[in-house]
Amino acid sequence: MKKKTQLIHGGIMGDEHTGAVSVPIYQVSTYKQEGPGKHKGYEYSRTGNPTRHALEELIKVIEEGKRGFAFGSGMAAMTAIMMLFSAGDHILLTDDVYGGSFRVMTKVLNRFGLEATFIDTSDVSNIEKEIKENTKALFIESPTNPLLKITDIEGAVKIAKANGMLTIVDNTFSTPYWQNPLNLGADIVLHSATKYIGGHSDVVAGLAVVNDEKLGNDLHFIQNSTGGVLGPQDAWLLIRGIKTLGIRMEEHEQNTKQIVDFLLQHDGITNVYYPGIETHPNHEIAKRQARGFGGMVSFDVGSTEKAEKVLTSVNYFTLAESLGAVESLISIPALMTHASIPVERRNELGITDGLIRISVGLEDAEDLIDDLKQALED
Ligand SMILES: *Cc1c(COP(=O)(O)O)cnc(C)c1O
Repeated sequence: MKKKTQLIHGGIMGDEHTGAVSVPIYQVSTYKQEGPGKHKGYEYSRTGNPTRHALEELIKVIEEGKRGFAFGSGMAAMTAIMMLFSAGDHILLTDDVYGGSFRVMTKVLNRFGLEATFIDTSDVSNIEKEIKENTKALFIESPTNPLLKITDIEGAVKIAKANGMLTIVDNTFSTPYWQNPLNLGADIVLHSATKYIGGHSDVVAGLAVVNDEKLGNDLHFIQNSTGGVLGPQDAWLLIRGIKTLGIRMEEHEQNTKQIVDFLLQHDGITNVYYPGIETHPNHEIAKRQARGFGGMVSFDVGSTEKAEKVLTSVNYFTLAESLGAVESLISIPALMTHASIPVERRNELGITDGLIRISVGLEDAEDLIDDLKQALED
């Protein structure tokens, strides 16, 4: 099955009993047993729910893994994955990971004895140097947020495997439509499904897929034990969102390419960050490991004042956190999504005060460009 077909025919189709072409929403917590322990595969909805199961089967198919899991948010998925490890274990992570991922590692999980080191994985030669005896996993985000840095996933996996470490990839920005880290050798892939997978700014959810039965059993044990599961209504919304993921991603990218061309020619902009630009430092790797470059672009207008002026002047870009929806969104990472990262660290990473990030939506590209043009005028 090719990708666009997987999105519509992957996993469980409709309802056997009625012929309904959409999976029913099983709004239920418990299931009648014919005798003690004799049930039809479902006992209690934290352990398993048919609507969530249909979504878990679907994400498994489209990420080409062995087992899928749905959580109440991307952060719940990440936390559950980190619970695979124990006090005293050490994890290496990409240095400009999502702000919430940085926060959970450094303010929550550290209190339970999980050690973290953040490194620039866009140069894979940085990985080996930081591996310690207790290093158990490499956590990569690629592309990153908001500088769209790319890590060579295959190259990183090679180093991780040689050192007995698992590789975990946050694939939120690329989506399973453009990039499948498990096929590049990764062990676990996770998504904030709140973004492109849901796609309509109406659900908060997280997904994880593993490529190994044992890891699958371990992660199910944690999902069931810690309980951060996704409800049936939201699971259904994701199944619905995934059906159009392919055409949405194609269109997000077409619009983004046109906007990037406009930004590159604009005098008031110092840097444009997009992996599809030939001068992007890891453009060749992006081209090799993904089928598309996505719909996120960042650019620098030089100062907070200028950036704030752009944000308040645009008409079609909604000033909001988040990304990956049908409506275009605009933000200043330093003041919004990355505010939880200390200022010194932000400057180290290059997340400057004049940096604007846009999540290009599905409006008409010409309208979006005209809107940016007027907002950038002095
Ligand atoms: C939003 C996001 C998350 C967190 O997901 P939530 O659904 O908000 O909990 C993790 N990683 C990336 C790359 C994200 O953009």
